[in-house]
Amino acid sequence: MFKQKIKKAFQRIIKTKFFKGIATLFMLFILLDLFFPFKINPNYSTLITDSDGKLLHAFLNKTDKWRMETELTEITPTLEKAIVFKEDRWFRWHFGVNPFAVMRAGARNIFTGRRTSGASTITMQVVRLLHPQKRTYFNKFIEIFRAIQLEFHYSKDEILQFYINLVPYGSNIEGLKSASILYFQKSPNVLSLAEVTALTIIPNRPSSLRLGTNNAFILQERNRWLQNFKDAALFNKQDIEDAINEPLNVTRHEAPHLAPHLSLRLKQENPTQSIIKTVLVRHKQLTIENIVQNYVSRLYAMNIHNAAVMVINNKTHQVEAYIGSADFNNPIDGGQVDGIRAIRSPGSTLKPLLYATAFDKGIITPKTAINDVPTNFGGFEPENFDKLFHGKITIEYALANSLNIPAVKMLKEISTPVLVDKLKKSDFQTVKKNSSKLGLSLVLGGCGVTLEELTNLFSAFANEGNFQKATYSLKSKETPRVKNEIISKESSYLITQILSQITRPDLPNNYDYTYRMPKIAWKTGTSFGKKDAWSIGYNAHYTIGVWIGNFSGEGVPELSGANIATPLLFDIFNTVDYNSSSKWFKAPENIAYRKVCAESGDVPNEFCTHQIVDYYIPSVSKMTKCQHAKYIFISADQKISYCSHCLPDDGAIKKLYPNYAPELLSWYESKHILYEKIPPHNPKCERVFNTDAPQIVYPVDGSEYFLAKNENQKLMLNCQVGNEVKTVYWYINDKLLQKASPNAEVFFTPQAGKIKISCSDDKGRNADIYVKVIY
Ligand SMILES: [Zn+2]
Ligand SMILES: [Zn+2]
Repeated sequence: MFKQKIKKAFQRIIKTKFFKGIATLFMLFILLDLFFPFKINPNYSTLITDSDGKLLHAFLNKTDKWRMETELTEITPTLEKAIVFKEDRWFRWHFGVNPFAVMRAGARNIFTGRRTSGASTITMQVVRLLHPQKRTYFNKFIEIFRAIQLEFHYSKDEILQFYINLVPYGSNIEGLKSASILYFQKSPNVLSLAEVTALTIIPNRPSSLRLGTNNAFILQERNRWLQNFKDAALFNKQDIEDAINEPLNVTRHEAPHLAPHLSLRLKQENPTQSIIKTVLVRHKQLTIENIVQNYVSRLYAMNIHNAAVMVINNKTHQVEAYIGSADFNNPIDGGQVDGIRAIRSPGSTLKPLLYATAFDKGIITPKTAINDVPTNFGGFEPENFDKLFHGKITIEYALANSLNIPAVKMLKEISTPVLVDKLKKSDFQTVKKNSSKLGLSLVLGGCGVTLEELTNLFSAFANEGNFQKATYSLKSKETPRVKNEIISKESSYLITQILSQITRPDLPNNYDYTYRMPKIAWKTGTSFGKKDAWSIGYNAHYTIGVWIGNFSGEGVPELSGANIATPLLFDIFNTVDYNSSSKWFKAPENIAYRKVCAESGDVPNEFCTHQIVDYYIPSVSKMTKCQHAKYIFISADQKISYCSHCLPDDGAIKKLYPNYAPELLSWYESKHILYEKIPPHNPKCERVFNTDAPQIVYPVDGSEYFLAKNENQKLMLNCQVGNEVKTVYWYINDKLLQKASPNAEVFFTPQAGKIKISCSDDKGRNADIYVKVIY
């Protein structure tokens, strides 16, 4: 009894004291952990991978070392087993320190008087690799604390990962992955057992076991360890035998530097991310890089030095190829400039978006007639690329031929802010920034865009008008994917149909398109001064944007979207999507056909004999009846025309005359193009006409004109009038200046100051304008 009592009391004392001790130690540890947190900043190299996760590009870390991060998934069981067997067999069981190993090492130190490091666990080695310190007993104590701390905050897998990522391989190579990539050109997860073994023994003596220089010695050491593995039955016997027989012929390689522009860009955009997984498709990226480089070298003689290409997969909204310049390693031509992000003038490439918007507003259909004649838009007088005017044409023709005046007219009709808004929705950054300053010239290239923005925009046409910015990487801080309907699917379809026609002038000269032309919809563009050549095309699979020019901004007379950029676009389409398996776009349900008058594109009237078939969008497209002609009463001899006021009781006949707009008539007159004129109006008619008054085209109402003194400079007067007008009268400040034919250009020398200019026709209809003349 007594004995038992004593025993129990003793046990109680031991228990409480023991637990108190443990609790105190634990509290102390928590406090130390709080005041001396373990800061881990591994400072990894940035790695860029392709869509398969294979390394495309690697950057040195901030201290110019190769320290590539091995991911947990790259640590195979073979690798883990080999390391744990070699370095720390109790790794999975201890708490950072192996007390038995410490005691054993301590005893050895006392008895032999030598200091050995046999007690180091993997955890303690990680501590030393992160914070190298002099080897003293005090530092050893700190190391033990840090090791426990590491175990407290990280899992065993993470600690093993730190170890693998920090071990030295000599020179500036750190971490097993860096060695694996630079010597074996492989990721750690595909290393053979022999390679794994070689890589696990080097960190113990990184300066004497240098791969490439001491291969024979490494081979000997490797096989010694493989024998140890065999003795411990760590791996399959046959696998070890094979590994022993594997030769070791390695040298150090350069780190991969593929897709340089995108790699550099993503590194800058994600400075803290050690592995950036792009969606680039390796073989496409490399093939197109090659095509672009060869293509530009052929343009060199023309003084054209650069190009950029971007390939978007329309289904995944991923960028599969990104070629920022013809040759990244050519410093003379600015090879490092990223042409995909350079801000340039878009030329005519925004026209499809403009017409698509007008289709959606219902104001036009593909066969709507529009006049391509000289037009003054409040001082802005655009010209066509070929410096010619084409008279009355269809919208379809205007877009396919990229005519400028119809485009500016259309923009004026839908208004600039409407188009700017569409561009803002499509993430055009420079347009967004300058939106308040943009005018009608916007649609002819009077704004700044990037190839990236344009290619993304055209990808929306391939996606039923839904804009979704393509991504470059899997996990990134890019703006979240937003789907934005910028145009309707009907209108996208109409644009696609027009842009895939092959009877068009912007086919490359001499291009053998009978067998080499891909089935795509595309639009070309050439900026003012021939500084930029664009060609952007799409099918259901891909949207590809091509820019060609000089980064220096130098214009080249031969540079044009049709002849210079389009052949490259076709080549790339034929490479990435030869004989495309994807079907062509299907007409959306709400697209219908109707017969329209060939003269106007409007719904046929009774007199519209020439009718053609046109697409339209039911309940959206306007249903205006054609007014291409009008009935006029004339005398039997066809010399006089009548109105309802002066129509004689007998002898008049009804005849159909073309109903042309004044601007077209005056262009016909200036070009001496014959058209059927309405006979002069009955001179005895008493009616005063109010409609169809003359329109003064020049000078422009409200403008200021700066004239040079003493040079007798003259101002030109020009007007547009109705079909039946034969004579006009020009007045300056209400004083008659001259009687003239309606299409004659009249000149006069103005006085300084505000001037009233009037034009009256032979029907008594009048127009006034005011201008200011400054000498
Ligand atoms: Zn008609
Ligand atoms: Zn009359």
